[in-house]
Amino acid sequence: ASADIGVFGLGVMGANLARNLARNGYATAIFNRTPARTEKLMAAHGDGSEGIFVPASELDDFVASLSRPRVAIIMVKAGPDTDIVMEQLALRMEEGDIIVDCGNSLFSDTIRRERRARELGLHFVGAGVSGGEEGALWGPSIMPGGTIESYTRLGPMFEKISAHYEGEPCCAHVGADGAGHFVKMVHNGIEYADMQVIAEAYDLLRKGLGLSPAQIAEVFSTWNEGELDSYLIEITAEVLRQKDSHSGCALVDVIVDQASQKGTGKWTVQTALDLAVPVTGIGEATFARGASCATPQREAARGLDAAALPLTISEPDTFIDDVRRALFASKLVAYSQGFDEITAGAQVHEWNIDKAAIARIWRAGCIIRAGFLDDIASAYEADPELPLLLAAPPFAQRFEQCLPSLRRIVALAATSGVPIPVFASSLSYFDQIRAERLPAALIQGQRDFFGAHTYQRIDKPGTFHTLWAEEGRPEEQWD
Ligand code: NDP
Repeated sequence: ASADIGVFGLGVMGANLARNLARNGYATAIFNRTPARTEKLMAAHGDGSEGIFVPASELDDFVASLSRPRVAIIMVKAGPDTDIVMEQLALRMEEGDIIVDCGNSLFSDTIRRERRARELGLHFVGAGVSGGEEGALWGPSIMPGGTIESYTRLGPMFEKISAHYEGEPCCAHVGADGAGHFVKMVHNGIEYADMQVIAEAYDLLRKGLGLSPAQIAEVFSTWNEGELDSYLIEITAEVLRQKDSHSGCALVDVIVDQASQKGTGKWTVQTALDLAVPVTGIGEATFARGASCATPQREAARGLDAAALPLTISEPDTFIDDVRRALFASKLVAYSQGFDEITAGAQVHEWNIDKAAIARIWRAGCIIRAGFLDDIASAYEADPELPLLLAAPPFAQRFEQCLPSLRRIVALAATSGVPIPVFASSLSYFDQIRAERLPAALIQGQRDFFGAHTYQRIDKPGTFHTLWAEEGRPEEQWD
């Protein structure tokens, strides 16, 4: 046995992760179902200049080449293919060996697989990996779950190959079994919301001021110097600057306006519904992708009178600043909600998740890397039990400063018919949670009326039911 670690699956992510491991000094065994991919990797990078690869065309040889306790990374399509590969590896591994799934697996699948591996005497680590192709090669953000014992063996390797932020690795043990994939799922959900708020800002600038994509790119580049500093703002400017070589116009103008999805946003929302956590920003962002693809509905609605007023902006600089602040406030709401989902998931699944550490490992390498994650880390360090991120210093003050802009932008967009699902829902969410009293009392009354679902009173303890239709009858107390 001569390899420190192995990678099964040499697609886009697997090949780059294997090269990252080898470059960092780990002899890396490589295997792919279709041997051509292994041969291609060896032909391109197997001359020793990028580190040591141990190629195998047979799975038995791949497993045999790993030094014990063995560590084999699965980097294949998520879903049933991961189960197939896990079983193939488990058959050949021995007690104490570690199978690591770095694909985008659903956390509940990871919980199931970890249980199964444990029964076989193996460790199973579900590790979220973010950063795409470039990240996998040069340093991703890594979110490993699984046992502490497995992290002792795996952690040093992952911390070395991960991105680093001011010298600190963007990798930390997240929690038991599916915790890593859970946190990666929420990361992707936040990514959906972050992308959507940027898109809403772009749409407002375009429709409000008639700016060209290249001019809006300049605005985004300026924003990237301030509190919005992030990878997504940076690449947005680049996307907007790109010209189409065919037509000569902005490339964004020839791209079909239908946003696809691979499912991690949907999982975040489905899971949030199960946990009863309002992740309105992520939810609206996911639905917005769906709405963009709802072709028959879009066609049918196009003929309706929108009763919208023209969007006329008298002070462009003030408008641009309002849009920037509305974007920041909505983004903050989405992150705050995402962390609420992590808190709720950790409670239900009994994971001990350090949210400050999560914010820290998202500061570099991953898609949502952003300047303000440093402040999120500090906020959770100061108070790990923080009930509401957006109400914590330094965010509370920044959020309050942005609120007038958010209100102006939401009102303006509503009257002029510009769709802003995440901006609008972020404001509504805030107005709900800050309200002294919500109309939820009325909902309770309705529920008790038609279904005897009972309610509680503000002035005395107990559970009550009213015989609503019979006027004058006293309420009945149920327990
Ligand atoms: P690719 O489509 O590039 O590669 C898929 C790989 O899976 C191939 O090596 C393929 O082998 C292998 N595979 C599929 N089914 C089986 C099977 N039944 N048995 C053995 N091998 C199988 O995928 P990616 O590299 O893009 O993605 C891999 C994982 O990483 C996915 O879970 C993805 O969600 C996740 N991910 C991807 C990111 C990205 O930016 N692309 C970012 C973060 C995570 P073969 O060559 O034989 O077909």
